[in-house]
Amino acid sequence: MNAIVRDATVPFYKPVGNECALFEAASAKGLPLLLKGPTGCGKTRFVEHMAARMGRKLYTVACHDDLSAADLIGRYLLKGGATEWVDGPLTRAVREGAICYLDEVVEARKDVTVVLHPLTDNRRTLMIDRTGEELVAPPGFMLVASYNPGYQNILKRLKPSTRQRFLSIGFTFPDPVTETAVVARESGLSEARVAPLVRLAGHVRALSGMDLEEGVSTRLLVYAASLMAGGMSVEQALEAAVIEPLTDEPDVAQALRDLIATVY
Ligand code: ADP
Repeated sequence: MNAIVRDATVPFYKPVGNECALFEAASAKGLPLLLKGPTGCGKTRFVEHMAARMGRKLYTVACHDDLSAADLIGRYLLKGGATEWVDGPLTRAVREGAICYLDEVVEARKDVTVVLHPLTDNRRTLMIDRTGEELVAPPGFMLVASYNPGYQNILKRLKPSTRQRFLSIGFTFPDPVTETAVVARESGLSEARVAPLVRLAGHVRALSGMDLEEGVSTRLLVYAASLMAGGMSVEQALEAAVIEPLTDEPDVAQALRDLIATVY
């Protein structure tokens, strides 16, 4: 661990497998890393934890369907009548030898892929067409991307030619013991009261893909537990943190309420 980073600044992350060792190995070799898994299962927290623990600067970009290569690389901006080049987060990360985390990378526009290819093979180069610069990434630079293989339609899957440039770690929801510890720690609710929430999550996740697009995330369990820790009734907390976020369908909502009644 890097000496300049104090423990208090490292966000809590409870490892599930060998992901920490893999991240360190990828970083040491300058290899790009892809984190695959459902939303709210700890991918972002993992990257924040590893970057802080290794004393590395982290640029996080939440990708969306309007995000273009220029948003990552940079653009000329008008300042007081003159145009001035302003680096985007990816360019800054390359220049500084930092970690760049592209969250939900498949959401971004297609031109982003073109930028990532030369950065993720042995050229490790970022081409800035607008300025004519060609930056070679220093050894410290690391590219991390995440994507959720579950909910994207087929058109939005990562192409094999892109996927095969990354080392990959598959994330799933933590096992019940780990998830109980995580939710208790994050929410302040006792493990005894978190345990039924985690059991409920297991049942709900078994339904995902059928009536539900996605199972309940660890993030939503933390929300529910936080509301309960603040004094809210189980019923109200689960309505706001589990049922409403998961579905807009009255029938499915009722099925979830019935499921909750079997656990509580
Ligand atoms: P993702 O990036 O996969 O959508 P996040 O990293 O934002 O999800 O995780 C959502 C929340 O779940 C975090 O804020 C944290 O409270 C919790 N969490 C999930 N897994 C873990 C874990 N292994 N250790 C610590 N917290 C976790």
